[in-house]
Amino acid sequence: MLKRVLVANRGEVALRVIAACRELSVETVAVCSTADRRALHARAADRAVCIGPAPAERSYLDVAAIIEAARLSGADAVHPGYGFLAESADLAEACGARGIVFVGPPPAVLRLFGDKVAARAAMRRAGLPVLPGAEVPVDAPAAVLDAAQSLGYPVIVKARGGGGGRGMRIVPDAASLETAWRTAQREAQAAFGDSRLYLERYLAAARHIEFQVLVDGAGTSLSLGERECTIQRRHQKLLEESPSPAVDEPTRRELGARIARAARAVGYRNAGTFEFLRDESGTFHFIEVNARLQVEHPVTEMVTGVDIVKEQLRIAGGQELSTGVGASTPSGHAIECRINAEHPETFRPSPGTIAEFTMQGGTGPGVRVDTDLRAGGVVTPHYDSLVAKVVAHGHDRREAIARMRRALTMTVIDGIDTTIPLHLRILSDPDFVAGRVSTAFLERFASGSGAAPGPRAARGG
Ligand code: ADP
Repeated sequence: MLKRVLVANRGEVALRVIAACRELSVETVAVCSTADRRALHARAADRAVCIGPAPAERSYLDVAAIIEAARLSGADAVHPGYGFLAESADLAEACGARGIVFVGPPPAVLRLFGDKVAARAAMRRAGLPVLPGAEVPVDAPAAVLDAAQSLGYPVIVKARGGGGGRGMRIVPDAASLETAWRTAQREAQAAFGDSRLYLERYLAAARHIEFQVLVDGAGTSLSLGERECTIQRRHQKLLEESPSPAVDEPTRRELGARIARAARAVGYRNAGTFEFLRDESGTFHFIEVNARLQVEHPVTEMVTGVDIVKEQLRIAGGQELSTGVGASTPSGHAIECRINAEHPETFRPSPGTIAEFTMQGGTGPGVRVDTDLRAGGVVTPHYDSLVAKVVAHGHDRREAIARMRRALTMTVIDGIDTTIPLHLRILSDPDFVAGRVSTAFLERFASGSGAAPGPRAARGG
């Protein structure tokens, strides 16, 4: 088993990893930037190391600084959380070179899934149904036009090395293709330092459904069922649930088993998520793999009873998956609302000092809150705006929704704007309550909002 884990992250996910380590009696080392010296994650660990100034590039995204902190603190493992360096093959490799365990997949797997085009090809070979698409040379407008023509409009242009919903453009027709291509190229270059793009058929009324997988070193590979993450804003998830109202038990088992086999086929190890779009006819299409822990992992934990972070640590430490972890029918229903420090209508980031924070809604069964918010704490403008995750579990979806409403209406966060009012509108929408949703669902709530999204460096999918 691991002895001392350095948590290469901040915010609620750093607390989440520290909590799992404490349960396993594993020591913890937090890292923080100078802006986070008083942050809760830096206090919750056994010790904290300051690794640089506020800009993430010089602290949480600095591989050398993380490795140096691990070395100096005698950590035998690094857990990257989600976002930041969670899918960095360079960090995984640098850890390996120094005999430090990286809590995540091997570097080769991280490189494979970091390249969306290579990932699509590998998953097609491994037998998954991949969404029709095309890889096209960087500067060949004619080839791009041909490829889009044969896929059929609308198409979507996506960044090959992308993430976080950036570098994506929906293209309704041939006339708008070239402009969309150039814009996406610029965005991808700025965001990822990689301007390579690819095309996919655009599914207008799809649902985003993803499968959680765990693979240990003994070759056990299994699916923990699916999450529905269809409620999104600008291709970024806002509310997630498990199970999906659109997945029946035979599909859950059959697709879950195929995905677990595909994961094993490419040498996957540790926790991962296989993302699909489900079209209106009910067909599933693979889009990508997130090779890390995800923001929305708690909904799976609530309905399976599996502590995914503890399993990650067990796997990384060379142990097999816990007994009892297996493909079982989900128990009840769970919903997660992402509470972002953003204006609920314009989505403008809303950093500031928290004057008051109470969650009386946590009173009673079925509510979990993962957060590093506290009265007197500061939400800095430097990082992602996710400040809390409220998760509600019920015997069925109706009870989970009722508990989430109770939790959110009995929450007080003064000093910043949050997405709570938007969540309350979603939770009382008749279509949402009936489970009739698509990725376009939020457009009717957010129309007219032109605000640029805030910094997204830390957010995982
Ligand atoms: P990222 O890695 O940037 O998050 P994803 O490939 O996971 O990108 O896609 C994020 C979201 O963008 C999806 O959940 C979906 O809402 C939308 N999207 C991506 N590809 C398509 C597509 N081919 N058709 C329709 N929507 C898509």
